[in-house]
Amino acid sequence: MPFYCLRCGECCSAMGEVHALERRPDGGLAVRNLYTGEVTHVTLDPDKADLLERPVIPGACPLLRHDAAGLAVCPVHETWPAVCAEYACWRLLALDGAGRRAARVMGRRHLALDDPRLEALLAPHRGRLGRIVDDAAWDEALAAVLEEAGYRVVR
Ligand code: SF4
Ligand code: SF4
Repeated sequence: MPFYCLRCGECCSAMGEVHALERRPDGGLAVRNLYTGEVTHVTLDPDKADLLERPVIPGACPLLRHDAAGLAVCPVHETWPAVCAEYACWRLLALDGAGRRAARVMGRRHLALDDPRLEALLAPHRGRLGRIVDDAAWDEALAAVLEEAGYRVVR
């Protein structure tokens, strides 16, 4: 599945309800999944060792931090829990002229719109898109509408 990450941090921003950070007696770190009980021993990535000194983000996974540019960073990316490694945010992404996220397709055909102008743009095409059986053809048809309207489509 194609996957494109803008480092917005959204996927980790509510994980404070799921992940608890534990400091082990030997000084190591572990992430406990509060729903499954699974414990993952994690290690700070060598180039991100000082990130945990940055402010905690309320509600987010206790490990999530922002770097100096304001982008989301997982400081344990190399050893993160399986649930994080398996997550794939979207498989088709539309960016507006300023590079902002305008829309994304997740799963087979779940279309999430960030740019409110897209509701009106896509409305006349919904019927036609809904009749397309083949998923790849549906992707192409949607991308064509978006690109024609000036959006950049990443897929
Ligand atoms: S995976 Fe998606 S939601 Fe998570 S940081 Fe990347 S772009 Fe944002
Ligand atoms: S361990 Fe890293 S990737 Fe996983 S939820 Fe926390 S900050 Fe996000």
